[in-house]
Amino acid sequence: MAGNGVFGEIIDGDVFKYYADGEWKKSSSGKSVSIINPTTRKVQYKVQACTQEEVNKVMEIAKVAQKAWAKTPLWKRAELLHKAAAILKEHKAPIGECLVKEIAKPAKDSVTEVVRSGDLVSYCAEEGVRLLGQGTFLVSDSFPGNERTKYCLSSKIPLGVVLAIPPFNYPVNLAVSKIGPALIAGNSLVLKPPTQGAVACLHMVHCFHLAGFPKGLISCITGKGSEIGDFLTMHPGVNCISFTGGDTGIAISKKAGMIPLQMELGGKDACIVLEDADLDLVASNIIKGGFSYSGQRCTAVKVVLVMESVADTLVEKVKTKVAKLTVGPPEDNCDITPVVSESSANFIEGLVNDAKQKGATFCQEYKRDGNLIWPLLLDNVRPDMRIAWEEPFGPVLPVIRIGSIEEGIHHCNASNFGLQGCVFTKDINKAMLISDAMETGTVQINSAPARGPDHFPFQGLKDSGIGSQGITNSINMMTKVKSTVINLPTPSYTMG
Ligand code: NAP
Repeated sequence: MAGNGVFGEIIDGDVFKYYADGEWKKSSSGKSVSIINPTTRKVQYKVQACTQEEVNKVMEIAKVAQKAWAKTPLWKRAELLHKAAAILKEHKAPIGECLVKEIAKPAKDSVTEVVRSGDLVSYCAEEGVRLLGQGTFLVSDSFPGNERTKYCLSSKIPLGVVLAIPPFNYPVNLAVSKIGPALIAGNSLVLKPPTQGAVACLHMVHCFHLAGFPKGLISCITGKGSEIGDFLTMHPGVNCISFTGGDTGIAISKKAGMIPLQMELGGKDACIVLEDADLDLVASNIIKGGFSYSGQRCTAVKVVLVMESVADTLVEKVKTKVAKLTVGPPEDNCDITPVVSESSANFIEGLVNDAKQKGATFCQEYKRDGNLIWPLLLDNVRPDMRIAWEEPFGPVLPVIRIGSIEEGIHHCNASNFGLQGCVFTKDINKAMLISDAMETGTVQINSAPARGPDHFPFQGLKDSGIGSQGITNSINMMTKVKSTVINLPTPSYTMG
């Protein structure tokens, strides 16, 4: 149960505390933010609404703690991360339960998210030890006009205070994908969890607390992003922002100061299906890619672009599989569970109504009960429909029939997003040409888009993001290069 056992100290009455200076605290605001259970649509949990003064204090402490942490040996940082990973995995059940109640993620997937997060933290520790244990050594005579009089030693140093803001759909995993790299690289970390998912994040942070990280190195400020977000992202104490979410990231990028930004934003991942594709494989990947976690994944298949000649067969195969999807509460491990909020369900319904008005073919009847939307495949979608371009973040998938590969690539590249895409064909030469032509951060050949495994580079082009994630890239992004140059009075050639 949330807030019980070892987690007893993170709650006061019915309000979860925030974490600062190594302690669980109540906000002086006296106010709380309610977290609505998407299934029951009733208040499930409450968290503190932190104040600007509390943010200021956290930033001050984080700065001091970082200076000491940067002097902590790399192997010791890794040791603590391994410990936190083990504690996190040990408590997968109560944290998974929070995910079920806060974001209506199916119970089994909720536990998987926590375990995957523990593995991610361990991998960060291992990768960090190797990556940061090495530097480069340069000599000057390789550049024209120089003798061998300068030796340059360069290594990676931390940035300072990293602000991490994950979204609701993978609150724990996308928080640790920022926390792990930041800490191993010698930074301190301030986490602003999503409101839906905040309690799961507070439990996760407690696992780091139990592992024994120094006071003030990790903090967790709760409150609504719309209220506290600008103050956090524009705070002069922040040296790096790692954000995952929607368009909010574009606004943050415009307001943030001269600091490194890692932005992982929305997507409209296209699935291009050629005539020679294995249509059974395509259909299973469309189901997995389009409907897992009710389509609320950044890398969900969000538009199918299928060659007209195989479209009827493919749509039939997908329809048969959609009919088998179970719909209901996350506690029952249903495939399709309620979407995160009423406003999200209303937005999805708006896209569906627009497609209906403009003549899309409904492969199933549109059905909604509260935040629960039944899976829906829309065939014969045309470019004048909103669903052809916008990200529904729900279990509704448009199919656009195309007459040529060029038409498919054109649709994909006309999007303002460029996260991932996929192509299904048995011809590797065509697949490579299409992959090169698609303006997306990643293209999957013969599989649905996916963010993992977590050590793969993960990046979006255009409005889908800035920079690249994946464990190695995140560690590099959260460091700066520092050089020391030894100047010799006379040239020195080895064995010369
Ligand atoms: P969101 O509304 O952009 O929220 C993301 C985070 O930003 C939340 O923690 C939110 O806090 C916070 N926030 C809101 N306003 C803020 C502000 N003014 N300043 C700073 N932070 C602020 O996104 P979401 O609805 O949680 O997630 C869905 C979106 O994330 C989709 O577009 C999806 O494609 C994208 N996503 C992208 C990736 C990727 O890696 N590319 C991965 C997963 C999801 P509150 O919850 O308190 O508002």
